Amino acid sequence: MIDSHAHLAMFQDGEVEGVLARAEEAGVERILAPATGPGDLERTVALRDRFPERVVAAVGCHPHEAAALDAALKRRLEGLVGRDGVVAIGEIGLDYHYEIAPREDQRRALAWQLALAVESGLPVVLHEREAWPDFLAALAAQEGVRGVAHCFTAGVEAAQEVVARGLAVGVAGMVTFPKAEQVKAMVAALPLDRLLLETDSPYLAPVPHRGQRNEPALVRLVGEAVARERSTSLAEVEAVTSSTFARLFGPGAGVA
Ligand SMILES: [Zn+2]
Repeated sequence: MIDSHAHLAMFQDGEVEGVLARAEEAGVERILAPATGPGDLERTVALRDRFPERVVAAVGCHPHEAAALDAALKRRLEGLVGRDGVVAIGEIGLDYHYEIAPREDQRRALAWQLALAVESGLPVVLHEREAWPDFLAALAAQEGVRGVAHCFTAGVEAAQEVVARGLAVGVAGMVTFPKAEQVKAMVAALPLDRLLLETDSPYLAPVPHRGQRNEPALVRLVGEAVARERSTSLAEVEAVTSSTFARLFGPGAGVA
């Protein structure tokens, strides 16, 4: 099983080994760790270098950090592209819910990073929250984007639009929440080979760990919930989502 989205850089140095050991015990053989900005870019790549068998990295500037994307940070990002184990540009996108960075800065940062991804031949790890029309416009403005819209919550129709653009959709612990009907409907409606499993650790722990710190071992609970919603087996969900991950983020992300 694969956790396609875990912020490993948000765990303390001394904790990461335990987190990875518990993931391995739970059958989670690979983790994609996205960076969020200037504070964790190098640390995310260093974690990949420390655990090259288990971890692959994405480098990018999260919408919350969009105002920080100046010429110097662009050079840093460009310098990390092409490093071993850097398999994607992410986490990038638009977040109008928290709107920590001005919308204009968010749109500019997203457009620049989408172009960087396409130029570099890398997929993207996308974040969208309450910004759907502008998010879709940004995707439409840049040809050749591939990747995943992680922890997607904009509804079934929006998810189908994402899939129609050739992207995958990330399913996080929300699918285990009793009231998350929209996410459950989305999981049932999309083709299984367009879904990826993720934890979004350390956030969004699935039931029955809700409110606690999340970690990659718990992605199994997300997989079980997806299997339940689709009336299929965990083995089927695991096989299909793992091969989608390999197709998107491989061969550097190849699954053993
Ligand atoms: Zn994230």
